[in-house]
Amino acid sequence: MAKKTRTLIYNQDKCTGCAYCVGECPVDAIDMVDGVAVVDFDVCIKCGKCVKVCPADCFEIVVEGGAEEEAAAEPVVDEEAELRAKLAEFSGVWVFVEQMHGHVHAVSWELLGSGRKLADDLGCKLSAIVLGHHMQKVTVEAGEYGADQTYVIDLPILESYRTQPYAMACIQLIQKYKPEIVLMGATTMGRDLAGAIATDLHTGLTADCTGLDIDPETRNLLQTRPAFGGNIMATIVTRKTRPQMATVRPRVMASAPKEEGRATEIITETLDLTEDQVPTKVVAFRDNADSEDVNLPFSEIIVSGGRGLGGPAGFELIAELAEALGGTVGASRATVDAGWISHDHQVGQTGSTVRPKLYVACGISGAIQHLVGMEGSDAIVAINSDPNAKIFNVATYGIVGDLYKVIPELIRIASERDLKKILLGEEDLQLTSGEETMNE
Ligand SMILES: Cc1cc2nc3c(=O)[nH]c(=O)nc-3n(C[C@H](O)[C@H](O)[C@H](O)COP(=O)(O)OP(=O)(O)OC[C@H]3O[C@@H](n4cnc5c(N)ncnc54)[C@H](O)[C@@H]3O)c2cc1C
Repeated sequence: MAKKTRTLIYNQDKCTGCAYCVGECPVDAIDMVDGVAVVDFDVCIKCGKCVKVCPADCFEIVVEGGAEEEAAAEPVVDEEAELRAKLAEFSGVWVFVEQMHGHVHAVSWELLGSGRKLADDLGCKLSAIVLGHHMQKVTVEAGEYGADQTYVIDLPILESYRTQPYAMACIQLIQKYKPEIVLMGATTMGRDLAGAIATDLHTGLTADCTGLDIDPETRNLLQTRPAFGGNIMATIVTRKTRPQMATVRPRVMASAPKEEGRATEIITETLDLTEDQVPTKVVAFRDNADSEDVNLPFSEIIVSGGRGLGGPAGFELIAELAEALGGTVGASRATVDAGWISHDHQVGQTGSTVRPKLYVACGISGAIQHLVGMEGSDAIVAINSDPNAKIFNVATYGIVGDLYKVIPELIRIASERDLKKILLGEEDLQLTSGEETMNE
C-alpha cells in the first residue's frame, strides 16, 4: 500500500488576525507577526487543528498517495470552524439601563464605565438598552454616560418592571442586533432579567462579577468572581455561545464620568405584545428613592460593627459614632448571623458591596468575605484590639485598642472637632485615652 503524505497549505492572504489557530496548535508552530499568523513548517506536525478553528479557511490539509486518498482527506469545514464563524457574527458591548419609573439605578452608569473599556479593547461600539415608558430623559442620560448607541423600546406595557415583557424585549433586540457582550446590574431586577434571557438564548451568564476583561486572542470576556466561599477568584469564560452575559453588583465598578450634552445614536424598536398576554399585573408602585431604608451601597460614610462588639447592645455605640459622622451603620456577617442586627446592614460577599469615602470597621477581623465587600472604600479606619488582625492589611489607618474605649473617645472628639476630617487623615488624630495609633 502506497504511503500517504499529509501537507499543510496555508493562505496568509486570507488571515483576519483572529489568532484562534495560535491557541489551538499543540506544538506552537504558529505565531502572530504584525497581526497575521505565521507558520513554522519545520515544527508543524500537520495535525489539522488549525484547519478546524480557522474561521477564514486559511488552512487546508492535503493527503496524497494511496487508493484511499480521497476518503482519507479530512473535511476542511467542521463543527469548530462553524462555531468560530457563528461567534464572529456577534459584535458590540451592551449595558442594560435599569430604571424604575424614570429613576435610573446608578449601577447602570457603573456598567457603562466598565463597558467603555471592554468596547475599546474589542474595537466595537458601546450601547445601552433602555426599556420603559416616557424614556426620553433616561435615553439622553445614557448618552451622557458614554453609550454610543441606545436601543429604546418606549411603551406603556414596559412602564413597570415585569420579567416577561422585559425579557421578551431584550431577547428580541439581542436576536436582531447580535451583541457580543451584555452586562446587567446584580440587583433584584438585573438578576431576575439576566437569568430569564440567558436561559431563553441558551447562553452563558456569570453572576456577581468583580472583574471584567477581554482576552485579546479569542475576544472572550474574562469574567472574574469569588468562588468556593470567596477563598479563590475564578475567571469564567463563555467559549461557545453569544452573547456573553454577566451581572455586576452595585459599587464594584467605578461610574462612567457624565459628559453633559454628549449625544447617543437612538435606535427605536417596538414590541409585539399586548397587555392581555402578560399574566403579571402591577397593582401599586412605591417609590423608594427617598426612603429611610438602609442604603449601604450608596452611603458615603459607613461605620460597621463586628463580633468584637460582644453583643447586640454594641450597635448602639456604632450608631452613635455613625450619627456623629453623618454615616450609615454596617455590620459583619457574624453579627447578622447572631441576630444582633438585620441583614440589610451586612457588608461583604453575601451582603452589600460598598464603596464609601470613609469605612470605619470596629471589632471586625477582616475575613476575605468581608473584605471583598468594602476594600474599594476610599479610606478605611480599623479599630481592633488584636494588632495582627487582617483588617489592618487593608486599613488606611489602624487603631489598636478596645473599641469600648476608642469609640467613646472618637464621639467626644466629634463634639469638638470635625471627626470626619480627622479619620480621613486631613487633620491629626490625638487620642487622650492612651490608645496606640498606627498610620500606614
Ligand atoms: C460563603 C460565606 C460568605 C460569607 N459572607 C460574608 C459577608 O458577606 N460578610 C461578612 O462580614 N462575613 C461573611 N462571611 C463570614 C466571614 O468568613 C467571617 O466569619 C466574618 O466576617 C467574621 O466576622 P467578624 O469579623 O465580625 O468576627 P470575628 O472574625 O470573630 O472577629 C472579631 C474581631 O473583633 C476583635 N475584637 C474583639 N473584641 C474587641 C474589642 N473589645 N475591641 C476591638 N476589637 C475587638 C477581635 O480581635 C477580632 O479581630 C462569609 C462566610 C462564608 C463561608
